[in-house]
Amino acid sequence: MSIADNITALKKETESLNVALLAVSKTKPIADLQEAYDAGQRLFGENTVQEMVEKQEALPKDIEWHLIGHLQSNKVKYIAPFVSLIHSVDSLKLLHEINKQAVKNNRVIDCLLQIYIADEETKFGLGFDEAIELLRCEEFAGLKNIRIRGLMGIATNTESQKQIRDEYHELKTFFDGIKLSFFRKEGSFDILSMGMSSDYKLAIEQGSNMVRLGSTIFGTRVVKHWKNN
Ligand SMILES: *Cc1c(COP(=O)(O)O)cnc(C)c1O
Repeated sequence: MSIADNITALKKETESLNVALLAVSKTKPIADLQEAYDAGQRLFGENTVQEMVEKQEALPKDIEWHLIGHLQSNKVKYIAPFVSLIHSVDSLKLLHEINKQAVKNNRVIDCLLQIYIADEETKFGLGFDEAIELLRCEEFAGLKNIRIRGLMGIATNTESQKQIRDEYHELKTFFDGIKLSFFRKEGSFDILSMGMSSDYKLAIEQGSNMVRLGSTIFGTRVVKHWKNN
């Protein structure tokens, strides 16, 4: 199946379930993104700032760019003018910097808190306690140019369906609790970003409303740099 065929099929599948489809285009060349765009895809996810900036410059301006990878504070300024959603907020310090750059650009930047749910050492994110602590602190309340739209999580890379299901279930439960405790009056806390190519059906079954799909759309990633692809 071509990229366009994959987009058409996945859009149909996700739209019928009211799940947003984020096309994760990291390492893929411009032509592949253009093909997805021509098939109607508008949400694209990248995991590095530099790659996202370069692709944003080259592609149509109605694309919504989502940053899904770990973000360093000193790089926020490059994406602040255009980024639609940052999925990977994992500290108050980073949130401060996003707020500062949002003020400079006279806008509000939508963010998700990345929550650590995997049974792995390598994944970034906040623990449940840390997320609550962040939302409670006075400093956070003062950040007027960021808006927390929801949560993001990455499940353990494992064959065990049960473990993945349990992790996503836990995140959905946490999401519901956070919404009740901190965002009862704001309808804008409404995004639960969970699910990748290998596990998105499980994630949707557990309540995800945004899936991040790379290889299912674009094929496996062979090389690391998009300009060599
Ligand atoms: C790469 C990546 C994805 C997409 O992975 P696939 O397995 O190719 O679908 C989703 N989320 C994050 C955070 C990623 O880094």
